[in-house]
Amino acid sequence: TMGCSGTDVASAVRAMATVVAAHRDELVELDRAIGDGDHGENLKRGFEAVVSALDSSEVDTPTAVLKLVAKTLISKVGGASGPLLGTAFLRAATSLEEVDGASVAAALRAALDGVVARGKAEVGDKTMVDALRPAVDAAEAVKDKSVAEVLAAAATAAEAGAESTIPLVARKGRASYLGERSAGHLDPGARSTSLLLRSLVDSAAA
Ligand code: ADP
Ligand code: MG
Ligand code: MG
Repeated sequence: TMGCSGTDVASAVRAMATVVAAHRDELVELDRAIGDGDHGENLKRGFEAVVSALDSSEVDTPTAVLKLVAKTLISKVGGASGPLLGTAFLRAATSLEEVDGASVAAALRAALDGVVARGKAEVGDKTMVDALRPAVDAAEAVKDKSVAEVLAAAATAAEAGAESTIPLVARKGRASYLGERSAGHLDPGARSTSLLLRSLVDSAAA
């Protein structure tokens, strides 16, 4: 399971990088429909930079690993998603003292709060928040259970939340420039958020 070591967290982050690379084209296609078509490439490059940073550093606690991930995403990812996801990792880092169900739920809450503080989006605006807020609520509802169960609840809720963006008209980010024409498409950032959370479930089970 995803224990308390920095190595375990680094492995989970490396798995995220693999998932992002595998879904690069899908995320590009989603962003082509309602944005500028770079979301998959932004995340792929960002996570490649994260893997390089992990390779060349000796970070050894979960907090240090997550801070390195945050710093790298914020500095290396062009586009709205880099600073938003970077902030999510940074806030998760500073709240994660030990890895159990309750602290993972708290870290997800902190990540969401950071994304909202930075991007000012709420549920219904057709952004990553539509995946992340229901994920956090679901995680908190089962926070007394295992890390694996907390993450599974979060990922399942994020997937439903991402799907819920399809009919929405975007009110934040580039897609909002399309107005009504943004309806009928899955939001790329909500999709990538659900992929990242599902990846964590798989890491916790490994
Ligand atoms: P850009 O739009 O700058 O090209 P990306 O394509 O990498 O950046 O990321 C787009 C995603 O970022 C959107 O699909 C949406 O989920 C998310 N996003 C954009 N603006 C916001 C915001 N203010 N709050 C939360 N998420 C946002
Ligand atoms: Mg884009
Ligand atoms: Mg862009």
